[in-house]
Amino acid sequence: MKMMKMNLVSVSVPCFNEEKTIPLFYNEILKVFKDKKYDLDFEIIFIDDGSMDDTFKVIKDLSMEDERVKYIKFSRNFGKEAAIYAGLKNSKGDYIVTMDADLQDPPALLTEMIDYIKSGYDCVATRRFTRKGEPIIRSLFSKLFYRIINRLGDVQIVDGARDYRMMTRVMTDSVLSLSEYNRFSKGIFAWVGFETKYLEFENIEREEGESSWSFLKLLKYSIEGIVSFSTSLLSISTVLGILLSVLSILMILIIIIDNLLFRNPVPGWASTACLILFIGGIQLFCIGLLGLYLSKTYLETKKRPIYISKEEKL
Ligand code: UDP
Ligand code: MG
Repeated sequence: MKMMKMNLVSVSVPCFNEEKTIPLFYNEILKVFKDKKYDLDFEIIFIDDGSMDDTFKVIKDLSMEDERVKYIKFSRNFGKEAAIYAGLKNSKGDYIVTMDADLQDPPALLTEMIDYIKSGYDCVATRRFTRKGEPIIRSLFSKLFYRIINRLGDVQIVDGARDYRMMTRVMTDSVLSLSEYNRFSKGIFAWVGFETKYLEFENIEREEGESSWSFLKLLKYSIEGIVSFSTSLLSISTVLGILLSVLSILMILIIIIDNLLFRNPVPGWASTACLILFIGGIQLFCIGLLGLYLSKTYLETKKRPIYISKEEKL
């Protein structure tokens, strides 16, 4: 009988201060792969994104007990996007998964993902259909974010899509071929195309520890997302400029006619001041917009590495 080569699943996990959740996570993954029905090997790549607690020690201990546990330790906190990239880049599997360490991405879905991939999909992604347990303001703003980015951008991003997904080798390699420095994974995954199946699940609250996303961090992330995937904001300035010019020409005409016909010179300093403020504001806004894109270009042209690893076992 010919020996069938076992397929390898790489599970890549960004970790930032996750000392408490990693052992729980590891046990859950073991449970999933115990099911021999699928005949799959797995490797887990933990990316320690500059944690301040004992995350790295926990990972290292695990990898000493189990050689399927690999790790990359960043030299500082580079952010989740960099960690996702590092995980994908160093994965050797046929099927590649990225998921959070906090068990908010249910490992039980993995088997379903494998079924879909085997049936011909290139990617199985997930989305939450509720935001239960999340602050209302936060849900509102993230709804707004998806509305804006889908209206402006060239790619469609599913509302509530998580980073939790499984991809084939081909798709992973295409994602890696986008080597930009300002990474917005949700956009990149959508941009490369391929056939994606969305699984839905209810929001699950974090197992241990705290979410590391503050409101400000999320806002920055949203602006990053919009700027990385759409240049249509740039044309806002042109449109505004044209509208304002037309408006001011009309107003000048009205003033001239008013003066000629009715000889009614108004003191009018207030309206002038308002106009100056208004136009000044619009100009600043547009310059700011330009600056935003310029700063992105600036960082891209430096061609800095996306992350720096201090120690790794792969
Ligand atoms: N994370 C990371 N670097 C960071 C922030 C977060 O690698 O700078 C990881 C974190 O350890 C977790 C995942 O990204 O595995 C999601 O983070 P979190 O649970 O804090 O976000 P939320 O689930 O609230 O969106
Ligand atoms: Mg979480």
